[in-house]
Amino acid sequence: MARILAIANQKGGVGKTTTAVNLAASLAVAEQRTLLIDADPQGNATSGCGLARADIGQTTYDVLIGECTLADAIVRHVHFRHLDLVPATPDLAGAELELVDDPDRGTRMRHALAPIRDRYDYILIDCPPSLGLITLNMLVAADALLIPLQCEYYALEGLSQLLSTVQRVQDVLNPSLDVDGVLLTMYDARLNLSRQVASDAREHFGARVFPTVIPRNIRLAEAPSFGKPIVVYDVASVGAQAYMAVARELLERDQQRSQQHDPHAQQHANQSPSSTHVGRATPEPRSPAQTPETSPRASLSNGA
Ligand code: ATP
Ligand code: MG
Repeated sequence: MARILAIANQKGGVGKTTTAVNLAASLAVAEQRTLLIDADPQGNATSGCGLARADIGQTTYDVLIGECTLADAIVRHVHFRHLDLVPATPDLAGAELELVDDPDRGTRMRHALAPIRDRYDYILIDCPPSLGLITLNMLVAADALLIPLQCEYYALEGLSQLLSTVQRVQDVLNPSLDVDGVLLTMYDARLNLSRQVASDAREHFGARVFPTVIPRNIRLAEAPSFGKPIVVYDVASVGAQAYMAVARELLERDQQRSQQHDPHAQQHANQSPSSTHVGRATPEPRSPAQTPETSPRASLSNGA
């Protein structure tokens, strides 16, 4: 059963799409069956995966308004055998208005995902930079929210608004929505500011901040113009190494979580210790200010 992660932050340009595309590709490299859903009318995840307008049939818009099933909109084997994509085009912006009077407007994506959930290990959703109906649909459908946080001035500003939206979703439509976790992006180790943002985020979110940080890396910025995830464009770059390390951390967290819930899985894991293999043979990217995960994640209401 897939774990569904919505990658969201209403602040623009913080690395949501870069994270969605490259984490999805890194998971696919690790032979995790992965579906990337582009839920942003800008369609950056779609073009960043190399899909041209001519290749696009049904989209996230058609799924949300009920024109087709999610299965109909899936483009298979995007760069990798294990990576599928549901594309988006600018018409997705119209869904916000078209669904406004629909009593099921908040749960459309959740219902659309239910029949295909078993086919994947991970479903990653690239959200738009707003907290409107599209993002709401994705938070209602998700098991967890992954927040990319750009290591810049004002990084933490607006997060309280995002977290209060999460709280509302938890209260009303999706009580099990988790924050899992916070990913520091565009980190520049030379800048005090980057270090300060990282330290503030770790103080605020504790173990929910991924130990690996994503460095500012020109190769990550170039890759989308070639329609390639970074692991295809330049696997040796620090950006590729960082996203593979984050994929590994995600897999390890999820393995720990399933062991907590299923003692048989624990037994199985003890018998076969190396069940994840993203970037195992490659060195960790430089990731200053690492905080080991020592305590279980607090719930949103307690921890944020
Ligand atoms: P939007 O809110 O518009 O959807 P976003 O949050 O999805 O934006 P991205 O599109 O991923 O943000 O990134 C914004 C810009 O920063 C892009 O040009 C991207 O290529 C660049 N970028 C993202 N991450 C990095 C990085 N680690 N190093 C260098 N450039 C980056
Ligand atoms: Mg984006």
